[in-house]
Amino acid sequence: LKPVPSEHPEQPARPAVAPDEQVFQLSAQSLLDALEQGQLCYYYQPKVDALTHELIGFEALARWSHPALGMIQPDAFIPVAEQEGLVSQMTLRLFEHGVAWFSDFLGSLKNLKENGRYVGVTQNLTLSINISVESLADADMFDRLQELCEQFAVPTSQILFELTESCAIPDKGDPLQLLTRLRMKGFQLAIDDFGTGYSSMQQLVRLPYSELKIDKSFVQDITTNPESRAIVRSMTDLAHNLGLNLVAEGVEDEDSSAFLHNIGCDVLQGYLIARPMPGDGVMDWFHRQLKQVEQRRHDYVRAL
Ligand code: C2E
Ligand code: MG
Ligand code: MG
Ligand code: MG
Repeated sequence: LKPVPSEHPEQPARPAVAPDEQVFQLSAQSLLDALEQGQLCYYYQPKVDALTHELIGFEALARWSHPALGMIQPDAFIPVAEQEGLVSQMTLRLFEHGVAWFSDFLGSLKNLKENGRYVGVTQNLTLSINISVESLADADMFDRLQELCEQFAVPTSQILFELTESCAIPDKGDPLQLLTRLRMKGFQLAIDDFGTGYSSMQQLVRLPYSELKIDKSFVQDITTNPESRAIVRSMTDLAHNLGLNLVAEGVEDEDSSAFLHNIGCDVLQGYLIARPMPGDGVMDWFHRQLKQVEQRRHDYVRAL
């Protein structure tokens, strides 16, 4: 099986810009202007079932299409948004677009089904949104996100908030109370970049998470590094013993995909399946993916 190349590979940032210039341009004001002018958007990266490669959901990843600097990656501007106290405002604006896109996508699937065509979707699709710890106590923002879900008729249970492991246990406020409030609104919670921070088993059990995402640094060398394989294996067992869904991010090749499936990993995300892509490219990807799913099924049955 060959990975399907995305028709929308991520554009590299333009090389002609000196690094200082980038730092200079990424001020609070330029971020505000970018929000105002709609230069910020989400790209979407699919998550698929580890066995069948059927679609399970998408992760929304922020991108800044800067008129002079080209496509700026989130690692460059999210920290600026966090430092400048703009991250809630940014998340809200992005989510408005995200939930509208997701609602449209769900609508298109419904049409496909009604037209009697097989749809390779395993369950209620989810849209994952990355949340900065700075926003966790921002009750107004989450109220607004909930309203947007209602407005676009997307159940909150189909929205997953990803918190990086270092932020998964916020040091300000009572983490149990903050996270429970979100669960009570129906949202699901995921621990992102697992393995890079620190969290005790007790906290993992106590806090209302439903998904654990293994950091890509472990996933990326499972084919070459026995230690990474051991770590990923133990994380999978841990997640399952705690009743959490396990997602491996950064899956780039078939060997990794096969290994992850063999040890019981539930969900795959990575360049093997698709790169993050603009919303208007997702339907084309989905149709190609349906063919992949069909092919996998065919190969699997023949090998039995
Ligand atoms: P993350 O949430 O862990 O997202 C996964 C990152 O891994 C993404 O980078 C994605 O493009 C990349 N990735 C996915 N598959 C592969 C693969 O197979 N190989 C490799 N090498 N990389 C892969 P991206 O989009 O640059 O995002 C970086 C980080 O920025 C995210 O890490 C997340 O922590 C943060 N971020 C992105 N969007 C938002 C946002 O809207 N709000 C907040 N607060 N943070 C965001
Ligand atoms: Mg990136
Ligand atoms: Mg994430
Ligand atoms: Mg991650």
